[in-house]
Amino acid sequence: MRRPKKFFSGGPRTFVITFVVIVGIVLLAQLVTHMMNTDHVAYSQFSESLTKGKIAQLYQNGQQVEGVYRDGKRFETVVPANWDYRIVERQKDIAYVILPPRQFSLPLILSLLLGFFILGAFLWTMLRQSRSSGSSGGGSGIFGVGRSNAQMFVPEQVKVKFDDVAGLHGAKEDLLDVIDFLKNPKKFSKLGAKVPKGTLMIGEPGNGKTLLAKAVAGEANCAFFSVSASSFVEMFVGVGASRVRDLFARARKNAPCIVFIDEIDAVGSHRGRGYGGGNDEREQTLNQLLTEMDGFATSDDTVVILAATNRPDVLDRALLRPGRFDRQVNVPYPDVRSRLQILQVHIKNIKCDSSVDLDKVDRSTVGFSGADLANVVNEAAILAAKAGIKKSNADMFEEALDRITLGKEHKSIVLTELDREMTAYHEAGHTLINILLPDDLEPLHKVTIVPRGRALGVTFSLPERDKYSSNEAEMKALVAKLMAGRIAEELKFDKRATGAHNDFEKATEIVQKMVRFYGMSESLGNVVYKDNDQFSDETVSLIDQEVRRIVKECYDMAAKLLRDNRDKLDKIANGLLESELLSAAQVYALLDMEQPKVATLELESVEADSTSV
Ligand code: ADP
Ligand code: ZN
Repeated sequence: MRRPKKFFSGGPRTFVITFVVIVGIVLLAQLVTHMMNTDHVAYSQFSESLTKGKIAQLYQNGQQVEGVYRDGKRFETVVPANWDYRIVERQKDIAYVILPPRQFSLPLILSLLLGFFILGAFLWTMLRQSRSSGSSGGGSGIFGVGRSNAQMFVPEQVKVKFDDVAGLHGAKEDLLDVIDFLKNPKKFSKLGAKVPKGTLMIGEPGNGKTLLAKAVAGEANCAFFSVSASSFVEMFVGVGASRVRDLFARARKNAPCIVFIDEIDAVGSHRGRGYGGGNDEREQTLNQLLTEMDGFATSDDTVVILAATNRPDVLDRALLRPGRFDRQVNVPYPDVRSRLQILQVHIKNIKCDSSVDLDKVDRSTVGFSGADLANVVNEAAILAAKAGIKKSNADMFEEALDRITLGKEHKSIVLTELDREMTAYHEAGHTLINILLPDDLEPLHKVTIVPRGRALGVTFSLPERDKYSSNEAEMKALVAKLMAGRIAEELKFDKRATGAHNDFEKATEIVQKMVRFYGMSESLGNVVYKDNDQFSDETVSLIDQEVRRIVKECYDMAAKLLRDNRDKLDKIANGLLESELLSAAQVYALLDMEQPKVATLELESVEADSTSV
């Protein structure tokens, strides 16, 4: 689910609270200095000082009199109603001012009120927070802010099972030994097998990371702790760390259990990446987390940590070391089949009439997350309820779709049918070149038109071996492959879209390197041209010419290959439109071609390592 961030959570909230406390303190300090520096004296004493000539200034406001002694000290007093002010006039060297009759100083009162209000609000929030974080057990810090605010579910409360999670077969499979370990930790220690203590779940919001984590608890029949890492980080240094300590202490007590930490990047982003203020605090929290994980990596506690993020790239490397989050599970956007399954899971909870065509809903929801799909079903049910009808019908689904799509438009990409077709041809272009130049390009891995992040589609290829160098033919083939996306679009639609921008950027970069660093041009020779401003205009324009010539050469090569193999291009594109994701094997099967043997390497982190265009 796309959990809405709490108002002022994390950095900004810390900032606001800090600001408010400072203002409160300053205002109160003003009041206190005013009161401390001002002596309240009895009228008799004032009278005496006055006649002795000790007073330098006097300000009268009705019966209220304030003044300053000759030595600079302030005082105030109350004079009788019938006080004869002429007594003052008999003194020399005294400034005497009668203020217009006004009871109090408005600004002072206002600022006092504000100060009290702010401090009150602050204390109230703290109290509430400590109450909502549970009442048992000893907390640390004021009002127990050091207690973790993790939600705990006992085994009987966890009702989610793997069957309730549609699709995500890969992820489920990867999590099987976590369940195994939770159910039967002894077996692991006997075999000396590596215990799966920390797993990182990677995927955009709403694709079922929380659901999956809960289902693991449900399958293993163990307790489940759920917490968002952003709730660790507070304004006081040390609070986050003590919350982490508290959480793990509770987890150990309730073992076997799962600790699910959402948005781990809130504390786990690598150092120097500020999350608003409080970097010390964040680092301390992170260090505590690492310490706790190391602690039970060596202990017998049957506690498993599942953490979720959509930004694995910003995570501190220390988190990913062996014994910590050393396993990764991808939780991607659902493809066409998984979307149907998710819709089916959720539609069980509502009533629909026979006009509803789930296949049609499925096809119009490219790029929807699991949560979006759940929302569509939910919205359709609400529309039926509003209309006073028992069952949702096709029109209601149509309207529900429109609503969710509109809502999504602000956040991510929504595809029209034409976008989808153009994307299919674009990726088919990359894929076909990949297949036609097998000697120069890394083998195809898979191709998809399910949007991810800001990309509409992706063609993945697999690095066969670690590459330390590449030759001219390989580089040209890669540039041809990059060009092929746009060429395929043009071949089919006679239209140019913006989707190729990124491809061109990569291609230009490669060709620039060929010309300037690797001596792979015709007219420039084996000279390295490092910095653009260091050489003459003539050289610059020569480099330009060469870059353009090579790009054109690669473009022409790709265009010819695609034109000569138009039938294959169409087949791949149609295959993509149908199932949105094709493995390399499926592509070769579609084309009736034999897939070259690939030195299969570990597929685990293919997504991270593979080159994608
Ligand atoms: P994340 O933790 O990745 O942000 P959630 O697990 O909170 O996503 O998913 C939010 C909701 O979306 C779930 O409660 C569920 O209703 C629905 N959902 C997401 N993915 C699936 C799925 N694969 N199968 C069924 N429902 C799903
Ligand atoms: Zn592309």
